[in-house]
Amino acid sequence: MTIEKILIANRGEIALRILRAAKELGIETVAVHSTADSDAMHVRLADQAVCIGPPAAADSYLSIPAIISAAEISGADAIHPGYGFLSENAHFAEVVEAHDIKWIGPKPEHIKIMGDKVAAKKTAGDLGIPLVPGSDGAVSEIEEAKRVAADVGYPVIIKAASGGGGRGMKVVNSEAELETQMKQAGTEAKAAFGDATVYIEKYLGDPRHIEFQVFGDGRGNAIHLGERDCSLQRRHQKVLEEAPSPVISAEQRETMGKVCVDAMKGMQYRGAGTIEFLYENGEFYFIEMNTRLQVEHPVTEMITGFDLVREQIRIADGRDLSVAQEDLVFSGHAIECRINAENPKTWAPSPGKVTGYHPPGGMHVRVDSGLYAGYSIPPYYDSMIAKLIVYGRTRDGCMMRLARALDEFVIEGVQTTIPLHQKLVYDPEFQSGEYTIKWLEEWLEKDNLKD
Ligand code: ADP
Repeated sequence: MTIEKILIANRGEIALRILRAAKELGIETVAVHSTADSDAMHVRLADQAVCIGPPAAADSYLSIPAIISAAEISGADAIHPGYGFLSENAHFAEVVEAHDIKWIGPKPEHIKIMGDKVAAKKTAGDLGIPLVPGSDGAVSEIEEAKRVAADVGYPVIIKAASGGGGRGMKVVNSEAELETQMKQAGTEAKAAFGDATVYIEKYLGDPRHIEFQVFGDGRGNAIHLGERDCSLQRRHQKVLEEAPSPVISAEQRETMGKVCVDAMKGMQYRGAGTIEFLYENGEFYFIEMNTRLQVEHPVTEMITGFDLVREQIRIADGRDLSVAQEDLVFSGHAIECRINAENPKTWAPSPGKVTGYHPPGGMHVRVDSGLYAGYSIPPYYDSMIAKLIVYGRTRDGCMMRLARALDEFVIEGVQTTIPLHQKLVYDPEFQSGEYTIKWLEEWLEKDNLKD
């Protein structure tokens, strides 16, 4: 390995995840942190730590000059951005490489293309990936919008080209609503993302969200690591993910996996990526590609035994892919619960001091979290404080182990979404695997947590 010291430009559980992979490769680590995170676990476990600014992310975890300075001061020769923050900022990737620091991520030009959803859709279509029917690029004129919507049929969804995190989307049921919704979508997109560009897609009534994990070496070789089912969402945010999808056959996995791999070979993609699809009536429709590690990557690791972060580091180091497609074996089932410091009924954030902490253990139970007893969860960042990932040889076995692990999990002093997951895991419809992206919100509306 030529990489000797990795700066981790992130915080929380993902900073720890990266730190662990680096340690196992014998690579030193540099943590960066805001003043609100001086006591964070990633700071405590790293070989070196550099304070990069005040609590506000804009002045610390999003500050390119502060992070580059930290890398120079500490002598880091590579940067891993994790997810969120600067992970999909092509400019940051370019700046890192311009400083002769290895960027543990995709080529900046691919981050740029996939960050613009209109360009991403065009690229994916050109590479043979099936798309959601919709406008051929951005739409600015109302007449054109009307034509596209009539063509694909109502309802349609207006999406922001620079959108993300499930924000900036408008469902339009009829032509009468189209003009006002178009204007509003553009105004909101401009305010939220600094770019008013929108495009139109057919609104799929009841799909599942299924995504494929891919990896490329940047030189035309690529593999896929199967799919994850992330249909359990609230406000377009994933709540629980599983792999494999309960509704995908081995043949479908192989067919779609090949489509994804061929596309990645075609673009000479480098590093880890996720190709997201909506899946309805047996068909896959591309919605976007994420050019980074995903929050839910551990479910893939559990069913393949393949360390995705280790592979990211190896690829950034210029190595070949460490496994061939035919050598990858998918076995068993894994489920991840995102545990947030939130009121499980109102979803209001619940930061504060963790007075007691006992993570579950036992066979096939993994907890990715920076929590410890006495730690104070700062109010400035994402409310996800832990991921519980459980493996079983069968989906049923996995759910039973998950229920057991959730019962063991103790986090005191703050409210968490553990009760939500406890209720969910016993729900017969969840257990049947027959859910779609709308299911969880409807389930929550039925007052499933109020008794
Ligand atoms: P973001 O980048 O903001 O997460 P995505 O394009 O990935 O946006 O969409 C997020 C979620 O919005 C999807 O998982 C799905 O729940 C919903 N969605 C997006 N496009 C459509 C569509 N054409 N039809 C129905 N639902 C959609």
